[in-house]
Amino acid sequence: MDKIAIFPGSFDPITLGHVSIVKRAAPLFDKIIVSIGINSLKKYMFSVEKRKKWITDVFKDLENVEVETYEGLTIGYCKKVGANYILRGLRTAADFEFERGIGQVNHMMSDNIETVFLLTEAKYTPITSSIVRDVFKNGGDVSKLIPSEVTL
Ligand code: ADP
Repeated sequence: MDKIAIFPGSFDPITLGHVSIVKRAAPLFDKIIVSIGINSLKKYMFSVEKRKKWITDVFKDLENVEVETYEGLTIGYCKKVGANYILRGLRTAADFEFERGIGQVNHMMSDNIETVFLLTEAKYTPITSSIVRDVFKNGGDVSKLIPSEVTL
């Protein structure tokens, strides 16, 4: 059975932290689907079309990485695409507490789905999409935080 992982998130926009997690996880799985979660109650800064294009461009040379969008429960989406693994990045203890709850409940609901965590590279620990948005909104230079394919 192929090892298929989804890497869910908003990616508003994708950052160097996200890119590092996907690149390091790519050899571990047959396929990784970077999955842009769409929540109709949430406001995003960048359109889903833009976010999807940026991610596609960033990973164009990685054959086993795809990009999709989804709505609704993450484990429902995993079943739909045949994924048994949810990939997540861990930056801080706060990330751990947040992820622990979600990962454990997901496992309770579907025990054939495992959440796999990779620690962030130390230099990317402070990077979040929301900091990128704030710096960008206020005219700052975000080039050290996002991949060059992301043209805000
Ligand atoms: P969400 O919409 O769930 O907040 P994000 O789009 O911010 O998600 O992130 C998706 C995933 O990427 C999460 O697992 C998050 O922990 C991880 N991630 C975000 N920023 C970084 C970073 N700088 N280094 C490593 N992982 C990160």
